[in-house]
Amino acid sequence: MTNRIPLIAGNWKMNLDHLQAIALVQKLSWTLNDADHDFGEVEVAVFPPFTDLRSTQTLIDAEKFEIKLGAQDISQHASGAYTGEISGQMLSKLNVEYVLVGHSERRTYHAENDSVVQQKVAAAWANNLVPIICVGETLEELESQGQSAVPIIQTINALSGHKELGKFVIAYEPVWAIGTGKVATAQEASDVATAIRQALQANFGDNAANSRILYGGSVKANNVAGFLQSEQVDGVLVGGASLDAEEFSGISRFKKHIVL
Ligand code: PEP
Repeated sequence: MTNRIPLIAGNWKMNLDHLQAIALVQKLSWTLNDADHDFGEVEVAVFPPFTDLRSTQTLIDAEKFEIKLGAQDISQHASGAYTGEISGQMLSKLNVEYVLVGHSERRTYHAENDSVVQQKVAAAWANNLVPIICVGETLEELESQGQSAVPIIQTINALSGHKELGKFVIAYEPVWAIGTGKVATAQEASDVATAIRQALQANFGDNAANSRILYGGSVKANNVAGFLQSEQVDGVLVGGASLDAEEFSGISRFKKHIVL
């Protein structure tokens, strides 16, 4: 048994305007409440596009929903002439709690390397945000280096060079499994999470090693239980399936699918 509270995180990517965002969060909350979801037992967070954050935050506050709010990215800079960027301060003013850092789509389409990811982690901590550091190997890296090597290096690089470590979450997302319908097996996800945890322990100590490690990549309500059966996997980062309130609430209620 671990004391880590599972986190179910929904990355909406570039989908839904602010009105659609309100409708989805409302439906998600009602569906979970109808099912008596215990948010203290399993945390649920949504990661809307930046333009939806204010409306979503207002709704969550007004209705006292227990769903947490996250952002999909953060600038590594505090302020200034960085057209199009969003700072950590702007996010924390909106009661954003989590921020995705180094998602593979940012690494691929926006050339975010480990150094940028490391700076974004620092920017998150400077603004009391919890970075969800996304790590994972491409298909070529899987074939040439095996499954754990790249996620471990990316994790160490993101966390090295800081004066002290703040709270963080690691999301292991094999690039070949994101949005493709291909999933890692539950055993593979568990093995990589174990390897990442060992690397955290060896490089940063006990506290770091007790951080939550999520799996991400084509997670659905019908496959989530397998991943979360492992003590090493503390939740999931969900893309496509988080856009459907019923499906995402089914994922959040994974415990009812787990046969012990
Ligand atoms: C993601 O965007 O982080 C993700 C895992 O996407 P999907 O669930 O669609 O594979």
